[in-house]
Amino acid sequence: MDTNASLRRIPSVDELLKSASAGAAIERFGRPAVTEALRAAVADLRNEVRKGRNLPARENIIAAALARLDAGDQSTLRPLFNLTGTVLHTNLGRALLAQAAIDAATAAMREAVSLEFALESGKRGERDDHVRALICELTGAEDATIVNNNAAAVLLVLNSLASGKEAIVSRGELIEIGGAFRMPDIMARAGVRLVEVGTTNRTHARDYSNAAGPDTGLILKVHTSNYRIEGFTKEVGARELAGIARKNGVPLVNDLGSGTLTDLTRFGIAHEPTVREAISEGADIVTFSGDKLLGGPQTGFIVGRKALIETINRNPMKRALRVDKIRLAALEATLRLYRDPDRLSERLPTMRLLTRSRGDIDAQAQRLAPAVEHALEGAFRVSIIACDSQIGSGALPLSTVPSAGLALIPIERSGRVLAELAAALRQLPVPVIGRIERGSLVLDLRCLEDEAGFVANFAGVIPHFKGGFDDEPS
Ligand SMILES: *Cc1c(COP(=O)(O)O)cnc(C)c1O
Repeated sequence: MDTNASLRRIPSVDELLKSASAGAAIERFGRPAVTEALRAAVADLRNEVRKGRNLPARENIIAAALARLDAGDQSTLRPLFNLTGTVLHTNLGRALLAQAAIDAATAAMREAVSLEFALESGKRGERDDHVRALICELTGAEDATIVNNNAAAVLLVLNSLASGKEAIVSRGELIEIGGAFRMPDIMARAGVRLVEVGTTNRTHARDYSNAAGPDTGLILKVHTSNYRIEGFTKEVGARELAGIARKNGVPLVNDLGSGTLTDLTRFGIAHEPTVREAISEGADIVTFSGDKLLGGPQTGFIVGRKALIETINRNPMKRALRVDKIRLAALEATLRLYRDPDRLSERLPTMRLLTRSRGDIDAQAQRLAPAVEHALEGAFRVSIIACDSQIGSGALPLSTVPSAGLALIPIERSGRVLAELAAALRQLPVPVIGRIERGSLVLDLRCLEDEAGFVANFAGVIPHFKGGFDDEPS
C-alpha cells in the first residue's frame, strides 16, 4: 500500500476516543490527558508512516498512547530504600517520622484544628503556643518560636536582631552547609554586615573583644557541623563568648545546626552539643533543625530569651517563614516523645536506626545475602561486609556508627557494570539506593526495616539490568 493511502487510513483522535480502552483510560486519567496522549501518538505515527512503517492495528495505537500516560502517571517523589549508609540523608528527605507524629499530622490534614485559636478563652491564639512550653521544658530556654527550617531560623534571627549592624563571626566558622546555604550570603541577605575575626584555625577572645563596638548587633557562634579543623587550633568557647557579648550589650546567637534534645552518649553515639547545654552556656538565642538528629519534620527552632523572641516574632519576615498545621502537629508529637528519653530508641525512627548494633545488622545481612545473590542470576557475587554508617546532615561529621551490609561484586569486571547495576536498582518499583565503593556496589543495611518487602522488590532486578560486560573498561 502506498504511503499516502496509509496516511489516510490513520484513525482520527475522535474515532480513537470512542474505543472501549480509551474510555477506560478516561476514567483513570481524565479526558484532556487521554486526548493529548492520543494526539501525540497519532502525530508520531504519521511521521513513522511517512518513513515507511506499516500501519499498526487501531488497538496498538491506543496501547502506545496509554503506555505513555502510565509512565507519566508515576510520581517523581517516591518512597525508596535508603541503603546509602547515611541515616539523615538530606537528598533522601532526612528524618523518618515517628508513628505518633504521622498520626498527629494525618489528623491535622483531615480536620479543622485549633491552630491559632485558644480553646479556653475562645480568643485568637498563636501557633507557637502548641509547642512553646514543651520546648522550654526540654531545653531550659525562656521562649521559643518555630519556622520553616534552620536556614530560615538563622536568616530571621540575623535580620531581626542585627539588620543594618554588624555580626561578629570567627573565620573558622563561616560554613557552607551545601546548596545555597553559605553564612556570608545569608548575612548579606539579612542586611547584616559580616565582621570576620581570627584566622581559619585560630580565633582568640581578644579578636571578638577588639571587633566589638557601637555598630555591633550580635555575636554569632556557628557549630561547624560538616567539618572539623584539627591540629594547631583555638576556638573561643560559648561560655566565654557569652561574657564578651554581655560586656558589649549584644546577644550571643549560637547556630547549633543539628543540635539534639538529649545526650546521645546514652545511645552509644558520640556527643553532639545539646540545646540545653548551649542555653546553659549563656547563649541568648539558639537555632537548630527539626529534621536532623531531633528526628521530626522539617522545621527550624529559635529558642532563648523572651524579649529577643518577641522582637523576632514582630519581624514581618516571620509570617513568610512560618510552618503549617501539618508540620506543627508532627513536631509537637515528636517533641512529646522526648519526655521519656529511655524509650526514644523504640519510638523515634532516627534513634532506632542510629542505635541498631552491627551484630543485628550483620545477622540481617546473613539472612538477605542468598536471596540477593539469587536475584542477580550469577552476574554478581554477594559478600557480607562490615562498614560504617554516617549520621548525615552535617551532624558529627567525623564519627561513624559500625554497621554491616552487602557488597555486590561483578563476576566479570568492566567499567560500567556497577553504574548499570546502580541504574537497575533505581528502576525497581521501590528504588534501592546504595553506594559504589572499591569495585562493588555496597548496600548498608542499617536503614532497612522492611526485609520481606525488600526481598520481593529486589527479585525483579534482572530485567532492568542491561549488563555492561561488552563495554570498554574505563
Ligand atoms: C544544617 C544546618 C543549617 C541549615 O539547616 P536546615 O534545617 O537544613 O535549613 C544551618 N546551620 C548549621 C550549622 C547547620 O548544620
